[in-house]
Amino acid sequence: MMKEINTLYREMGISEAVLAFGARAEAELKERFEAIEENVEYNQMKVLQAMRKNRVEAACFAATSGYGYNDLGRDKLEAVYADVFHTEAALVRPQIACGTHALAVALSGNLRPGDELLSPVGKPYDTLEEVIGIRPSIGSLAEYGVTYRQVELLEDGGFDYPAIERALNERTRLVTIQRSKGYQTRPTLSVKRIGELIAFIKERKPDVICMVDNCYGEFVERMEPTDVGADLCVGSLIKNPGGGLAPIGGYIAGKEEYVERAAYRLTSPGLGKEVGASLGVMTSFYQGFFLAPTVVGGALKGAIFAANLYEKLGFSVIPNGKESRHDIIQAVTFGNPEAVIAFCRGIQAAAPVDSYVTPEPWAMPGYDSDVIMAAGAFVQGSSIELSADGPIKPPYAVYFQGGLTWQHAKFGILMSLQKLYEAGLVKL
Ligand SMILES: *Cc1c(COP(=O)(O)O)cnc(C)c1O
Repeated sequence: MMKEINTLYREMGISEAVLAFGARAEAELKERFEAIEENVEYNQMKVLQAMRKNRVEAACFAATSGYGYNDLGRDKLEAVYADVFHTEAALVRPQIACGTHALAVALSGNLRPGDELLSPVGKPYDTLEEVIGIRPSIGSLAEYGVTYRQVELLEDGGFDYPAIERALNERTRLVTIQRSKGYQTRPTLSVKRIGELIAFIKERKPDVICMVDNCYGEFVERMEPTDVGADLCVGSLIKNPGGGLAPIGGYIAGKEEYVERAAYRLTSPGLGKEVGASLGVMTSFYQGFFLAPTVVGGALKGAIFAANLYEKLGFSVIPNGKESRHDIIQAVTFGNPEAVIAFCRGIQAAAPVDSYVTPEPWAMPGYDSDVIMAAGAFVQGSSIELSADGPIKPPYAVYFQGGLTWQHAKFGILMSLQKLYEAGLVKL
């Protein structure tokens, strides 16, 4: 006999009260979910069109080894990415170890001693501080004589145009714009706002390279930063564009000249894009990119569901339950460490992998407080899969993202609420 879905949920540990509360929140989200589905459809067609145009074929999936000369699968995939991002070229490689590496390659490939790098949107992602040399680090851009300037966002999250204008000078070679808020509380930038910022900068200095750190932003909207003037767009394949299937990798899409320069940095001067065997990962790169619009749609639904659920319970959530979305990250501020821990334990308990593990806060390198992390992922550290982390310090917020399917994201969020409910930290 077939079980009722609620029986299954109860067998997996979700109580009647949590189920009912979740159902009420979900019922109010029909229209928003429909709008997400329309975006998914649009982006799915965009990817499919690029794959058909480039005649993707079975031969693309063959593993290559050694130097990887004339790697058909690799070269076609790069053409597919370039078509989706509407750019002249792209570099999409398993030799790019992660998002930070992709950004470091794009920056160091395009900056030379004496050049200046500008961030007009405040402090970049933590790991970039060492790439740039904001925190002294071996091999940083600073060690190679590249200077750095930063213009803070205004209180209200707006761009400080007069300060940006003053910061641009004859040495400014590259402007880096981070789309996602990452683990800060500023709003994530919409593609439209990124376009406005780039237009302002290019009007004053047309030859400057505008690069966007696109991590967590791919396929959230119908346009990408390269549709609004970005010269380079950079991201990680164990986030959105890998669709959960890519086991490693990063991409750099943009103007041919700048992508080439990045390729000479990634491999070697003289070699550039010509070398770099794809080993056996091409199937997962193609299939992951094909699935990415749908996966991102599921992650977005999860983020919106969580925002609405926890907002109803009186917690502060960023973005709030109604706001439009420009990345897949959701922050919930709990105000006490017990709730942060309970939330992360719920996400972990809901995972397909390592569900029996109980995460504990610990002193992670690079953080100034203990951090608790929940991740039960098929790919280590993959944050397109349902994952959460919370620094154990005021304001006691958790940041969570991902979910390869909406149904799994929903279950994870219900489980997080269940843990809070069992600990007596919320009343339903
Ligand atoms: C994740 C992320 C990075 C770094 O990517 P890693 O794969 O963790 O090295 C850089 N910028 C932003 C905005 C990110 O979200």
